[in-house]
Amino acid sequence: MSYGLGVLDDRESPAGIGQLDRREFLQLSGGLLSAAAFGTTVFRAAPARAHSLGEFTPDLTEDDPDVLFIHSVCQMCHSRCGIKCKIRDGVLLKIDGNPWHPNNRGEDERLSYATPLAAARHERGRLCPKGQSGIQTVYDPFRIQHPLKRTGPRGSGSWRTISWEQAFSEIAATINALIPYGVRLTQMIDPDNADVGPIANQLLFSPGRSVEGSFHDRIFKAGYGTQNYRLDHTSICETSHHVANENCLLYDHLKKKGGPTHLKPDFDGAEYMIIFGANPVEANFPMVALGRKFADMRARGGKIVVVDPRLSNSAARADQWVPVIPGGDAALGMGMARVILDGGLFNAGYLRNANPAGAGAAGEPTFTDATWLVIVQSDHPSAGLFLTAAEAGVASPVDAANPVCIAEGTGAVTEAAVSGSSPPPVVGELDPRDPGQGSVTVNGIKCRSAFGLYADRVREKTVAEYASVCGVSEQTIIELATELTAHGRKASVWTYRGVVQHTNGTYAHLAVKTLNLLIGNVDYAGGLSKGGGSYDEKKAEGGLDTSVVPGGVTPSGVRIDRAKAAYVPSKTYFSGRPAPRPWFPLATHGNFQEVVPSIQEQYPYAAKVLITYWNAWPYSVPGGRRVWEETVANEALLPLFVAISPVMGEVAAWADYILPDTTYLEKWSFPGTTPTITTKFAGFQQPVVGRFDGRTIGDNGSWTFNPEAPNEYTPYLPDTKQFTDILIGLAKAIDPSFPGTGASGFENGAPCRRAWDFFR
Ligand code: SF4
Repeated sequence: MSYGLGVLDDRESPAGIGQLDRREFLQLSGGLLSAAAFGTTVFRAAPARAHSLGEFTPDLTEDDPDVLFIHSVCQMCHSRCGIKCKIRDGVLLKIDGNPWHPNNRGEDERLSYATPLAAARHERGRLCPKGQSGIQTVYDPFRIQHPLKRTGPRGSGSWRTISWEQAFSEIAATINALIPYGVRLTQMIDPDNADVGPIANQLLFSPGRSVEGSFHDRIFKAGYGTQNYRLDHTSICETSHHVANENCLLYDHLKKKGGPTHLKPDFDGAEYMIIFGANPVEANFPMVALGRKFADMRARGGKIVVVDPRLSNSAARADQWVPVIPGGDAALGMGMARVILDGGLFNAGYLRNANPAGAGAAGEPTFTDATWLVIVQSDHPSAGLFLTAAEAGVASPVDAANPVCIAEGTGAVTEAAVSGSSPPPVVGELDPRDPGQGSVTVNGIKCRSAFGLYADRVREKTVAEYASVCGVSEQTIIELATELTAHGRKASVWTYRGVVQHTNGTYAHLAVKTLNLLIGNVDYAGGLSKGGGSYDEKKAEGGLDTSVVPGGVTPSGVRIDRAKAAYVPSKTYFSGRPAPRPWFPLATHGNFQEVVPSIQEQYPYAAKVLITYWNAWPYSVPGGRRVWEETVANEALLPLFVAISPVMGEVAAWADYILPDTTYLEKWSFPGTTPTITTKFAGFQQPVVGRFDGRTIGDNGSWTFNPEAPNEYTPYLPDTKQFTDILIGLAKAIDPSFPGTGASGFENGAPCRRAWDFFR
């Protein structure tokens, strides 16, 4: 099909708002250049200066007192670099890097906050070409300028513009007709199948890489109560990585609460690093920072090895490239582990710390479960699980559910207390066994330590056998393992999408990631870092806890993608095996691929409403286009489809309504960055074009001054809205008392009537 643009704008722009066409923009920016070229007094060419970032090209805008600089955050990709936008007469002329932002300059290069603003005008951080081209996003002539309503069959490209008032009222009326608001949480989709939940779940919100998660959760989760409040893209990106990390880095054993989804290598302190499929030079995030850190580490004399089937840009710039058979990463990791175990090259002292107190007493930041005992007696009801203090017969345990180990030195069965106040430090034996036995018996139960079981699994193959699986020579595997263990904690192994996007991704990631635990580098300079973190705006002086929604509700039932739900006979949705479509009890970050096929098959229930935002489902899901078009073209399968999008695309083209949101250069949010950045900071995204003049556009294109909001923001395209404003408008149209919005939408009674109320 072709994506007909139809009628995008059938009325004139309001007077007083200059929407630039390409010619006007070139005239203005060309005017700046010609003024400088002819030596007017308006612009003086800045002399080229030696700088820590190298020789800067003179930038005429920096000496022009009429050029306004506004700092914000780039969203041309997920890296979220800081940007310094240069604006004259309301026109965005240039985007540079923010010299204060940790993505854009290294720790030793960043501007001091004491730098006078006049001096800071001449400072820039690095920015990639895509970030610089963001200027073309805001001035894209194909942006949608007004809400659109479909006038022909879905996908026909026939539209007419409508007002926001009409859009909100019609969409809300349709939603309420399909899913009566008052009973959305009490009326079951199928009374005979109550476990799938109430009719609220038939409203689906599917965002992509949104930076407004806390706000759309406020609307769709706490306000509306649909279990499908965030059918986001993570599973086509890195779910296998997150699931592996959460299980490998479990931080609350008793609550079965997963650990952090990311641990990143600390380039700044590292001596040696092996990178499996992470491509920091060309494709990772934050790319600008990673490229710099990669180069800096090598310049300092650090050694970088890249494991990749291709000679990628990263591999080409590394000290060593190790080509691996695609999907063979786990075998390479296990082969290295075999070398490390057989050679006694692992950090036994680190691994033996069995609880936080034990680690603390040893001066270690983290502990491991290496010494915890696992029940290996096949006829035991808890076979395969950690032996508990109760099962071990520990007298007066801190918590009967705590794990146990065999204490180092005494050989006593000991509770490895990970809970309770002031639990004693515990150091365990790594692989205790009864004399002449392959296991240790505790209270009549046969057990092995987690480390012992891991070693057994690693030793199922020889290094030569692992070499034949992964395509890396035995000698190279030995050399990699030997060098990894020769740098103390200042070494790491980093795995990412090249490893985790195979069908064995979670297990491959675990196999390779565990090498870090063998050298004990977690939370060490030069090892693995959990990052600097960010400041919590909720805890700022005068800040609100925006996650609290007065009158908020709690979703129930199962998601349409069946993530985090088990297909078991005790559930009403169980209908014998095999299930009509798979269920995904371990998918802690959703299953984006399943969203549209599930709508198509109306399993486990029919969808009524789909709202998308930053969503490119047919483009990003392999083979997705056919099922997408078959599904969304059928109004019986999807009665209402609303796309929130600034441009026409393969998703929006099929919608019933398109609500044009602003670009990232016309909105507020608090985008963070990744743990690769070890500086604690908070990013703030703010409008850099548009007007703060309290005027809003009316239905007839006239301007109305709003005395209640003298600082009300009007985007560059004045009849578009920030995403948060769209959600507030839609929520209020669905019900005037929609939780978390309106005159007293916040916990302290403050209003949540517009985007600024939320972000200020
Ligand atoms: S790497 Fe940074 S500057 Fe480049 S597109 Fe991504 S966020 Fe923007």
